[in-house]
Amino acid sequence: MLLENIKTIITGGSRGIGLATAKAFLQEGALVTLCGSRKETVEKAMNELKKEFPNSFIKGIYPDLKNFDDVKKQFDEAIKEMGGIDCLINNAGISDDKTFETYDIDHFDNVLDLNIRAPFICSKIVSEYMIKQKHGVILNTSSMVSRDGMTAGVAYPTSKFALNGFTLSLARELAKYNIRVNAVAPGVTYTDMMRAVPEEYIQPIIKTIPLQRLGEPEDIANAFVFLASDKASYISGQILHVDGLGRV
Ligand code: NAD
Repeated sequence: MLLENIKTIITGGSRGIGLATAKAFLQEGALVTLCGSRKETVEKAMNELKKEFPNSFIKGIYPDLKNFDDVKKQFDEAIKEMGGIDCLINNAGISDDKTFETYDIDHFDNVLDLNIRAPFICSKIVSEYMIKQKHGVILNTSSMVSRDGMTAGVAYPTSKFALNGFTLSLARELAKYNIRVNAVAPGVTYTDMMRAVPEEYIQPIIKTIPLQRLGEPEDIANAFVFLASDKASYISGQILHVDGLGRV
C-alpha cells in the first residue's frame, strides 16, 4: 500500500473530490480525518466510509475554516487521536458565476476566505507539527482556471492563482524541513453537482476536452495519492494539471 499509516486531514472531505480522495487514501492504508462545513454532511460521509473501511481510522470534524482558533482546536484533537499528522489536503472551495458588475466586496471576501485564507490557516497549524518532526506533505486543490482565468466569477480564479503562488512559495520555504507542498489542478470534474447538469450541457464541454470525457473525482484522488506517497519524494512546488488537456 502506498500510504500505510499516513495520518491525513482533508478539508472539503464530505463529498466530491474530497470524499473520493478520502476513499483512495483509506484504500492505500492511510488514517483519515475529514472536514466538512456541516455536522450532518460530515456524518453522512463518515457512515459511508466506515461501511467500506470498517477497520480504518476515520474521524469527521466541522471547524469554521475562517476561524483560526476553532480550526486549531479541532485539528489538535484529531491529530492527537490519529497519533500525528503526515499529510494535509486543502481541498474545500467554492466558486460562482456572478458577473463583475454584480460582485460586491462581501461576496469577493467570502470566496477568498475559503479558497485561500483557509489553506493558509490550516497549513500554518499543521506545519507546526511537521516542522518539529521534519517531514510532511501539504497538498492543495487548485483548478484549471488558475492558468487562463474565467469569463465570470472573478474571485474564484483569483483565489486559485493565489493558491498556486502559495503552493510554490511554501514549497520553497518549508523544503528545509523536508515538507513537500504541491497542488493538483482539476479540469471539469464529474462531482454530484455536475451529475445534476443535463446531458445537453455536458456534451459541448466534452467536445472541448482532447481526452473526450470529464474528469472523475477518482482521477483527482489518484493524483493526490501519488503526490502524498514516497513515490513523489523529490517533487515539490508543482501544480499538477489533471484535466484531460481541457482548457477554458
Ligand atoms: P463540492 O462542492 O462537491 O465539495 C466542496 C467541499 O467543500 C465540500 O466537502 C464542502 O463541505 C466543503 N465546503 C464548502 N463550503 C465550505 C465552507 N464554508 N467551510 C468548510 N467547508 C466547505 O466540490 P468539489 O467539486 O469536490 O471541489 C473540491 C475542490 O476542487 C474545490 O477546491 C474546487 O475549487 C476544486 N475544483 C473542482 C472542480 C470541479 O469541476 N468539480 C474543478 C476544479 C477545481
